[in-house]
Amino acid sequence: MKLALVTGGVKGIGKSISITLAKEGFFVFANYSSSEDHAKRLVEVIGEDKCKLVKFDVGNREQVNASIKQIEESFGSVDVLVNNAGITKDDLLIRLSEADIERVLRVNLLGAIFCSQAVIRGMLKKRGGRIINISSIIGEIGNPGQTIYAASKAGLIGFTKSLAKELGSRNITVNAITPGYIETDMTSNLNEEIKQSMLKSIPVSRFGSGDDVAAVVKFLVSEEAGYVNGAVIPVNGGMF
Ligand code: NAP
Repeated sequence: MKLALVTGGVKGIGKSISITLAKEGFFVFANYSSSEDHAKRLVEVIGEDKCKLVKFDVGNREQVNASIKQIEESFGSVDVLVNNAGITKDDLLIRLSEADIERVLRVNLLGAIFCSQAVIRGMLKKRGGRIINISSIIGEIGNPGQTIYAASKAGLIGFTKSLAKELGSRNITVNAITPGYIETDMTSNLNEEIKQSMLKSIPVSRFGSGDDVAAVVKFLVSEEAGYVNGAVIPVNGGMF
């Protein structure tokens, strides 16, 4: 059975990705850092025979390395890594503290870098693998109040393109997805007025779901997607 590690894989977009990969026949390691209830429910949905929870903070390199080492020693090397864990701390740049800036960059950007570093050796030995980074439309177009989030997500795009060039010859592909507005906890606290004005800018006239993003992950992990490398794939209903 092939192994997939989904960071932030127990709720929102990550949950949809974990369920989709399990349906595709992967054994899924669903990572989380604090959402215990969501984590328990996910295992109930997928089943213990296809899913295991791994609790670590993606922004903590020691925890990342220790957890991935444990997975590799007990189950084997990871075939698919989805760097999905992410946070926002939205405010005007002038108001953001150093701690807030550091935390967003650490979780969103360094987290993906640490997890990728930790799985690559195993993928090289196995002569194959897939890394998928969940970036954001905000990393492409920017947004006031989201400067640091945008920087972290734009950073992920540069990271994706460079790592794709490092690893392509070893049968390891690295791609990014840039979701638009997806209905999850991350977007639930936007006020109704902003939501409605946003809806007007989405040509397909609806917000996205985790399953919309998971469908692209499903394609990227397939055999057929072997020639797709260093790509940045928008899933945004046409909101450019
Ligand atoms: P969400 O519902 O808030 O889920 C975020 C996930 O990340 C949770 O499972 C959370 O688990 C995990 N996480 C956060 N910090 C972590 C850490 N330090 N270590 C490990 N896991 C951590 O958000 P979402 O909307 O599904 O977002 C998923 C990804 O899609 C994010 O990278 C986000 O930036 C990106 N995205 C979302 C949208 C959107 O419209 N929703 C659009 C574009 C991109 P814990 O609660 O256990 O920490």
